Amino acid sequence: MDQHQIDARSPEEKRAAHAGQHPDLRDRLEPMSWQCTQEAATERPFTGGYYDEKRSGTYACVVCGEALFTSEDKYDSGCGWPSFTTPIDDAPVDRRTDISLGMARTETTCGSCGAHLGHVFDDGPGPSGERYCINSACLVLEELPEG
Ligand SMILES: [Zn+2]
Repeated sequence: MDQHQIDARSPEEKRAAHAGQHPDLRDRLEPMSWQCTQEAATERPFTGGYYDEKRSGTYACVVCGEALFTSEDKYDSGCGWPSFTTPIDDAPVDRRTDISLGMARTETTCGSCGAHLGHVFDDGPGPSGERYCINSACLVLEELPEG
């Protein structure tokens, strides 16, 4: 399948389609992973498994396994969630304006399965100036072997 094909479906439509194909998803995911990816919940800061994670590897979408971020772009922002300066090149990380909680933020979702990931802010340290603030519960670290 052509990865660069325009997919006009909303994240909710993608989630519904993915759930239809994977009826065991709710049983497979931890409750917090379900709430964050499917219901756009946010885990409490400093509670996730990866905010202080230092191991090297690739962070994939916990729902569909798509590689989204790498430890090379992860940094300690102090905000209590895993923070990245950028997604992996060409990774399907979608964004849209989110006006919940009475503020305008930019939501990020997995472009493949529609999973909510977190938000992106413009106070990052890298050349892009962006900080991808992602729930640990939405990610799974595929660790690289040492060496
Ligand atoms: Zn996904």
